[in-house]
Amino acid sequence: MCSLWRMGKNEPLIPAWVRTVGAMREAGVRVRWSCRTCGQWGDADLAKVEQAKGPGFSLINRRPRCRQPGCSGHVLLLYSPAAGTPFRPLQWSSERI
Ligand SMILES: [Zn+2]
Repeated sequence: MCSLWRMGKNEPLIPAWVRTVGAMREAGVRVRWSCRTCGQWGDADLAKVEQAKGPGFSLINRRPRCRQPGCSGHVLLLYSPAAGTPFRPLQWSSERI
């Protein structure tokens, strides 16, 4: 289990509790998707993702297809560690910590 957090030495600094779907569920992290093409947004169902992909699946830097009918956009995933905390993108390529 602990080996999950130790990926490559080139891995950017990512909080352990957002690295995988299972860890986010355990930590109570909220995940939201937002589509810039159709303007829709909603809460992601981590339980469903974990069921489909497994607890070790990572959502970081993923841009899934928008599921709104007629929309061909890709959604941006955001996370919030707790209630009252602003949502931040689940992306690290452009972020420096
Ligand atoms: Zn859309």
